[in-house]
Amino acid sequence: MSEQEQEQTDKQKYEFRKVIEELKGYDGSGTQLVSIYVPEDKLVSDVVAHVTQEHSEASNIKSKDTRTNVQDALTSIKDRLRYYDTHPPKNGTVLFSGAVDAGGGQTDMVTEVLDSPPEPIQSFRYHCDSHFLTEPLENMLADSGLFGLIVLDRREANVGWLKGKRVEPVKSASSLVPGKQRKGGQSAQRFARLRLEAIDNFYQEVAGMANDLFVSRRHELDGVLVGGPSPTKDEFLDGDYLHHELQDSVLGKFDVAYTDESGLYDLVDAASEVLAEREMLEDKQAMEQFFKELHDGNEATYGFEPTRENLIMGAVDQLLISEDLRQDVVTYTCENGHDEREMLDRRKSTPDHECSRCGATVDADEAEREDAIDHLMDIADQRGTETLFISTDFEKGDQLLSAFGGVAGLLRYSTGV
Ligand SMILES: [Zn+2]
Repeated sequence: MSEQEQEQTDKQKYEFRKVIEELKGYDGSGTQLVSIYVPEDKLVSDVVAHVTQEHSEASNIKSKDTRTNVQDALTSIKDRLRYYDTHPPKNGTVLFSGAVDAGGGQTDMVTEVLDSPPEPIQSFRYHCDSHFLTEPLENMLADSGLFGLIVLDRREANVGWLKGKRVEPVKSASSLVPGKQRKGGQSAQRFARLRLEAIDNFYQEVAGMANDLFVSRRHELDGVLVGGPSPTKDEFLDGDYLHHELQDSVLGKFDVAYTDESGLYDLVDAASEVLAEREMLEDKQAMEQFFKELHDGNEATYGFEPTRENLIMGAVDQLLISEDLRQDVVTYTCENGHDEREMLDRRKSTPDHECSRCGATVDADEAEREDAIDHLMDIADQRGTETLFISTDFEKGDQLLSAFGGVAGLLRYSTGV
């Protein structure tokens, strides 16, 4: 992926996240919020036919309010579908529409269309509920990682992938390791030796299975997780059975009771803390560097205005934005042509402004208001600056929001701004 494409994706993902966050905040008083997932290869005319059918079936809904609301939502979706040709755009499209509670017994009609999500929509879904169905989109937006999974005991093993949030079982094996009970007539020594040999063979087989699957993709791999009961997983890891590069990328071993396919899911659950830590690694490194520059260097900037200025100069290497920043930027232009900007909580209405340079008053309705992150990312896009959203789930990430206004930048060179 080129740097430019990466930027497009950052921005698009941010837009998607923002819409999803809004959609998740809505409730319908009845089962009246419609979500439709349309894959790329679905004919738009088929979707229209489906929506028309649902519209006529909705006439059976007993509650008059719900009936009207559902039919209004479907009409609104049908209107939107007119804008497409025969098929939806690349990766498909998701349509949301419904009458949401606006407080005081009032409702607001909300319609949102998200074209070309970051991953292809797999199957057509029509969903009508008291909330919008956003989970499939959220999963697509989750930070994608690629992890190798191995679960084993002395009888059975499974290997597979963790791709983003999705577990994909691939191969399994079962062993011929005899139980601990030896048959009569066998010498204890010989039995123990044969048993150890069988265990060793099985570990080799499991490692071979994992190597076949993981080694060719070792450069994309974010790590390997190993699960099973003790002492099996310890023996397996201590014995260096895996390819040395895989062995080096083992993130941890975890107690897992089952070693069938379901064990792969248990392994991901058991490793959730390690995985979350891993996901935050890039954020942590960026914040470490930011604080280091702040104390001993000059190649850091923070706060909306200084960061914006550095961005415009093309001096920002990496733009750091707090994941929890919810602010707009309001640009006031007074009658004497002075531009001034102010940050404002997203939920607050725009106040009037007094120009600090000439004292002229600028009315709120003449001000230009925009999402602060959109504003910065647009400049970052033009300058080829990478944007990183920083989690607030660790101390220095939280400080970015609480002490630095939620916006900072690592610079390519010192600018003195
Ligand atoms: Zn002025």
